[in-house]
Amino acid sequence: MPFSCLHCGACCELPETQIAVTLGDIRRLSRHIGKPVAELFRERIGLRPFAVDGSCTVFKTGLGLRIPCASREGRRCAVYPARPLNCRLFPFHLLARMSQEELDAFDDPAVRCMQGISISAEERGKYRRYVERLADILAREQAATEALLKEHGLLRTVDITTHEDISRLCAGSGRERDRELVRLAVRMIEGQPLPDLPSLVAEAIRRHAKTLADTLPPNPI
Ligand code: SF4
Ligand code: SF4
Repeated sequence: MPFSCLHCGACCELPETQIAVTLGDIRRLSRHIGKPVAELFRERIGLRPFAVDGSCTVFKTGLGLRIPCASREGRRCAVYPARPLNCRLFPFHLLARMSQEELDAFDDPAVRCMQGISISAEERGKYRRYVERLADILAREQAATEALLKEHGLLRTVDITTHEDISRLCAGSGRERDRELVRLAVRMIEGQPLPDLPSLVAEAIRRHAKTLADTLPPNPI
């Protein structure tokens, strides 16, 4: 069975999965839904925690979607043509690089679209080309986004190992534990004073206008 999206909504609502956004994503979203950047920050985007590789208690900050994503309509994406680059990549970045043996062994019950599928060499090549094109755009836009955060001291490390609740949280297991840890990191970020992030982002979008993509490769399926 080839891959097809079952519209289960799992990749848009699992709170332990953080979805990073770029300045380009924010500009495309703002244009698509006709809302200013400040409004997107109120509803859908914020400074979010991204786990540092191999750690579940140390995070770095970045711009990301508030999860569950407010752009869902039922289980569908209401902003599909303007969805962020990282949403576009999922699950093609996995399908492009996983062998059939790895796919056969994939057993995450939350991601049913990856269960029992079979990808031909031709499809895998198509996904790989799509992922490479998106990855180029993502790298460019991510660099501009990180430069902005760095300039304003917003690239922070959030270490929750010293929090009073940490022993209780780490005693749990699986997704529920990861969710709690992410929630705690979000609370720690939100508990600190932040500059006027929407204004800084709107200004940076103007400054980096030439770097941000207007057109993106079409979905490969
Ligand atoms: S997890 Fe898979 S099936 Fe569910 S919405 Fe995401 S891509 Fe579609
Ligand atoms: S923007 Fe769309 S695809 Fe991305 S998380 Fe939100 S609802 Fe899902």
